[in-house]
Amino acid sequence: MTVVSPRLKGIGVSSGVTAGPVALMGPRPRLPDDRPAVADAEAEAAAAIAALNFIAEDLEERAAAVAMPRAAEVLEATAMIARDPSLEEGIRLATAKGEPAAWAVHRAMDHFRELLLDLGGYMAERVGDLDDVRDRTIARLLGQPMPGVPERDAPFILVADDLAPADTVTLNPERVLALVTIRGGPTSHTAILARSLGLPAVVACGEAAALGDGELVAVDGATGVIRVGITQEEVVSTNRAEELRRAARAASHGPGRTADGHAVSLLVNIGDAAGAASVAKVDAEGVGLFRTEFLYLDRQDPPSVDEQVALYTEVFKAMGGRKIVVRTLDAGADKPLPFLNPEGEPNPALGVRGLRTARRSPQVLADQLAALALAQRATGAVVWVMAPMVATVAEAKGFTDLAHEHGLTIAGVMVEIPAAALRAADLLEHADFLSIGTNDLAQYTLAVDRMAGELADLLDPWQPALLDLIRMTAEAGLAAGKSVGVCGEAAASPLLAPVLVGLGVTSLSMSASAVADVRDALAAVTLAECREMAANALAGRTTGRP
Ligand code: PEP
Ligand code: MG
Repeated sequence: MTVVSPRLKGIGVSSGVTAGPVALMGPRPRLPDDRPAVADAEAEAAAAIAALNFIAEDLEERAAAVAMPRAAEVLEATAMIARDPSLEEGIRLATAKGEPAAWAVHRAMDHFRELLLDLGGYMAERVGDLDDVRDRTIARLLGQPMPGVPERDAPFILVADDLAPADTVTLNPERVLALVTIRGGPTSHTAILARSLGLPAVVACGEAAALGDGELVAVDGATGVIRVGITQEEVVSTNRAEELRRAARAASHGPGRTADGHAVSLLVNIGDAAGAASVAKVDAEGVGLFRTEFLYLDRQDPPSVDEQVALYTEVFKAMGGRKIVVRTLDAGADKPLPFLNPEGEPNPALGVRGLRTARRSPQVLADQLAALALAQRATGAVVWVMAPMVATVAEAKGFTDLAHEHGLTIAGVMVEIPAAALRAADLLEHADFLSIGTNDLAQYTLAVDRMAGELADLLDPWQPALLDLIRMTAEAGLAAGKSVGVCGEAAASPLLAPVLVGLGVTSLSMSASAVADVRDALAAVTLAECREMAANALAGRTTGRP
């Protein structure tokens, strides 16, 4: 008799299969309801300060040991907060008023938390780091497990409520086999990180809350299925089968095409200069989305034209003749910049973000286009440029005219707002190409914040209403004889890719780790089958879907 393991179901957001033991993300420590009496205020202060110093040292050691520069920066910045002498002062004041060590830490940190929040902008963004130091110090004082990503000797499957940016940046991909989150959506930090690290991931899996530490599970990041209660033998056989599949995948190369030879460009999304190297590694045809925000983050002023030229030149050279689609700065909403975005917008996702920031600060866009044109001329690279968050034909014309004036000959726009999809044919009178940002298009079509884990099912890229808008955009492209790609996270799904092709999309841009699976998925179906799958998906029938 075959014993079938129970299955949990979430949303698969980064493909790959792996099996291993669960490690639960350390919860935030809780101060016990009963506050102990304090006999010696000095001793409480000394204990609290010793714990704070221990945390600072631990963060510094991890910063020195970690390989990724961004992770080291985050850890160093957090350690600096723990070393701030005013925290020590705050702790002494609280213990002098009779607070036990852990409570004194809480009170001192609360005070600084409010100060940072009042200062706003960059300082307010540091509150998350302060909370991290507070939780770690309190956990140490109370003898509770450290919050955050657990440290284990053997690799594990990380199960968390959701991951904060600081957790994601310091995650060690050597130790983590897969990510499973109870909340989080297809466009959450977890999903984006998992894809960039090539880790299988399942999000929005409410049932995962019942998983226990050490339990053996198998995670399928394409279908979103988690098999629980498996045996050690099944762990070994699952991982062995996946290893063989990966080896076959590593040999996958060549341009994207369906079984009957219909060409589909497979491109890579990158977010910095380092990402450019991945394009050749996975034998992709180029970059379909170069997010340029990283150049502007953590700064008080925009980068100079010279600084930008140097960076773009480095990236363009790395393309080795392949095409690169550069997206101009997309500041605002989930990526606010103090020098561009207005403070206190009630609905920043509906506010001054993306191309709209150029209404207030046209020079920032002009400088970026000038720098891109200079780097393009210096390298002779094949550069396409596009603007994010375009809503109207006037915006599309304004942007593409400006880019052309700067000497950037191929200028397009992103379709991320339903208005743009509905008017795709009109946009294409000015735009040389369109690129569909399904992360935002889903958010604005279904009226769901893209970071809202609780409503993740509504952000599912299989939603027929979203597919309708993709179809309309792709059809407009076919009629105009212009390229229409998808560069949102939906393009990385090997199950959805044939549907997108069936809808008429001409290119798919995704994280490098997804290229081989998508290439294989397309090679397994004919164009007619893609069209049939698309018709089923549009009709809301789930054929072809797990
Ligand atoms: C999108 O919205 O789908 C997209 C690619 O842009 P971003 O995720 O950077 O907003
Ligand atoms: Mg977007």
